[in-house]
Amino acid sequence: MDLANGMPAPVNERSAADAGQGHDDLLRGRQIFAVEQNTERGLVSFGVAATFATVLFHREWGGTILAWYLCVLGFCAIRFAVMRRTIGRTPSPMGRAAERQLIAWAALSSLVMTSLPVFVSMQSEGLSFAFMLALALGTFWSGCFVFAPVFGAAIAFMLVELVLAVAAGFYAGLDWQRGMLMALFACGVGGAIHIIRQHSELFRHSVVQQLDLEQNTEVIGLLLREHEDQSSDWLWQTDAAMRFVEPSRRFQDAFAMSDAALRASSLEVLLAGSSGGEAAVGQVRLRDAVVARQSFRDMVVCCGSAGEERWFNLSGRPVFVEGRFIGYRGVMADVTAAKRAEARVIHLAHHDPLTDLPNRAQFAAVLDRAFAANRAFALISLDLDGFKPVNDCYGHPVGDALLMEVARRLRRLLGANDFIARLGGDEFAIKTLRHDQESVESFCRRILEVIAEPLTIDGYTVAVGASVGVAIAPVDGASREEITKSADAALYRAKQGGRGTFRFFAAEMDQQLQERQRLVQALRVAVAREELRLYFQPFIDARTGVVTGCEALIRWQHPTRGLVPPADFIPLAEESGLIVPIGAWVIEEACRQAATWQGGQRVSLNISPVQFKDRDLPERILAALTLSGLSPSRLELEVTETILIDDADAALDSLRRIRALGVRVALDDFGTGYSSLSYLRRFPFDKIKIDRCFVSDLDSRPDSQVIVRAIHDIAVGLGMTVTAEGVETAEQAQQLRITGCDEFQGFLYSRPRPAADLWDIMDRRYAA
Ligand code: C2E
Ligand code: CA
Ligand code: CA
Repeated sequence: MDLANGMPAPVNERSAADAGQGHDDLLRGRQIFAVEQNTERGLVSFGVAATFATVLFHREWGGTILAWYLCVLGFCAIRFAVMRRTIGRTPSPMGRAAERQLIAWAALSSLVMTSLPVFVSMQSEGLSFAFMLALALGTFWSGCFVFAPVFGAAIAFMLVELVLAVAAGFYAGLDWQRGMLMALFACGVGGAIHIIRQHSELFRHSVVQQLDLEQNTEVIGLLLREHEDQSSDWLWQTDAAMRFVEPSRRFQDAFAMSDAALRASSLEVLLAGSSGGEAAVGQVRLRDAVVARQSFRDMVVCCGSAGEERWFNLSGRPVFVEGRFIGYRGVMADVTAAKRAEARVIHLAHHDPLTDLPNRAQFAAVLDRAFAANRAFALISLDLDGFKPVNDCYGHPVGDALLMEVARRLRRLLGANDFIARLGGDEFAIKTLRHDQESVESFCRRILEVIAEPLTIDGYTVAVGASVGVAIAPVDGASREEITKSADAALYRAKQGGRGTFRFFAAEMDQQLQERQRLVQALRVAVAREELRLYFQPFIDARTGVVTGCEALIRWQHPTRGLVPPADFIPLAEESGLIVPIGAWVIEEACRQAATWQGGQRVSLNISPVQFKDRDLPERILAALTLSGLSPSRLELEVTETILIDDADAALDSLRRIRALGVRVALDDFGTGYSSLSYLRRFPFDKIKIDRCFVSDLDSRPDSQVIVRAIHDIAVGLGMTVTAEGVETAEQAQQLRITGCDEFQGFLYSRPRPAADLWDIMDRRYAA
């Protein structure tokens, strides 16, 4: 709404009160008021003329003129005294009685003022005749004009004088000269009535118009006030010194200032004291506009009212009366909430909500700027070690608290020229202007130290570590993409090189990276080119020595590298997502092979955590079973604890659906990972596979035997069977048998072999 332009005058208090009164009374009030405004001057000038007359003719007319003069003075005094009540006031509505009173006053004025001049002029000649006639006529016309706003009063004034003139004429003896004089008076009265009527009508008309205008203004004012009450805007106005005039309630509330305090304050004072930046710009623009007496619109300014920063949107225009500047009028709105929301949105767009560190987007911008500035800097990529288990064992709130603490600790390490961001998950990055090897090294060591310090959250003491990769710009990369890739390659090496360390980027890392990318490319087409193979390794029943099933283990028959073991490409397949199509192929191929086994042995498949992100996994398995005709009870899936870490609920849901098909589920590599009992309780696994590291240690470390026995007891307690993997010697088999393991798997019995070589072992009975 354009309130700034076309602002109405402030609603006058009295005219607002008038609103309930009759229109006629209002009009009458204005008319009488106008008469009284002029009466004062009329009386004074008549008083002066009467004084002259008395001085000039007191010898000639002696006591008569003196008596008249006293009457005039007395009358003027009374009239003044009566009018004092209204002089200097604003017009108020008046009834008919007031009008009648005025008419009486008019008649009386005429009687007092014109009686002597009329009588004397009728009886004398020469100077006294001329003077008195002039006085009588002058008084006649000035009386007419003074009373003109109230036509009745003007008429009374004229008629009284006319009657006096006629009476004086008769009194002095009617001759033709006096007859002519009386006729002259009568004509004067006739003409005057016509003129005064027009004058009176004109006046009346203008008053009516003004009253209408005021009434409209009042309506607009009321509407505006109502609008103001309902909206967040309010009207404001200042005087020429820019001090506030009539500040509204809302205005007072917004600034938490009293009416008096606001009136004493000015626009400039009120909006001073902002904290620079955008706020200061708004103020300078506002001040410039005010100094130049220009209109302004939607000027956003800030002020520190009531102890906090508040934002206001101001529009205003200067008001001039007859070319004179009398102040500004406008509308103001409190936009603090919108401003805060806007700031919050901007902040959120650039910050990580958990740690409040800058986010990836902002970090990218910082790197771009650093390259644009052509300065050397180090990019430190940082990844927490062991964060996932903390998050999983103690729950997300503890994980969040840990991340926040890490952020706090890292922030404390930073200097003025360092910039940190959280890139996501447990990944952080730091850009630092220190770029010589030595200072970056000591910085990295500090980072590793502060992160490694254990911390207590909710009564749990947890500890994590970090791996750090460093790349120096511009040597290790001349663009954001390049330097990020280099730092990531260094980080990758740090992780591989046994965690809790840092690595600087080296050219060969780049080669390794490229090598990896080439491998991923080749792997992408490996399924289609039928380069993947399944090898099988048997499980042996610990008591009977018969082959109860085989684990399917993948191999890649690479065209140039030969047979590639899974350790060399499964991690790559997992990182690139290729494990999903590869895993699908394994499921189909394993089911197809197992369906041909005459002895009805089980087949066991390794399913990587990434495959559980594929929501269709249960359907895929069902399709493979259906297609191959393999009974679900002959299929077994081997999963590791890690599947329960990332998105545990989704994975558990998939596992349940798979198990509902009748497929068995085994927990692989138990004892190597987090080996948390909580995992065992969260899902009813059918079997636990004890990792081969315990088996190989059986001979040398007695505690391994204790651990194996403990795992066995837990498994039995939870209704699971136990398989030991990596059995290489008969002694190991013997010890495991004593411990109570149900099945063995290992080189002692068979290495993984191609499907074609299985016929040789499937019916065999190994020594038990
Ligand atoms: P895993 O599931 O623990 O598989 C057992 C690994 O132990 C196999 O290595 C097997 O050859 C090896 N092994 C068996 N007996 C012995 C022994 O007596 N002594 C020693 N030293 N090793 C033995 P492989 O075939 O190289 O597989 C390595 C890993 O690759 C597997 O570990 C599994 O995690 C993964 N993998 C293999 N095939 C697949 C697959 O189809 N899908 C997925 N997702 N992962 C697979
Ligand atoms: Ca396995
Ligand atoms: Ca295993």
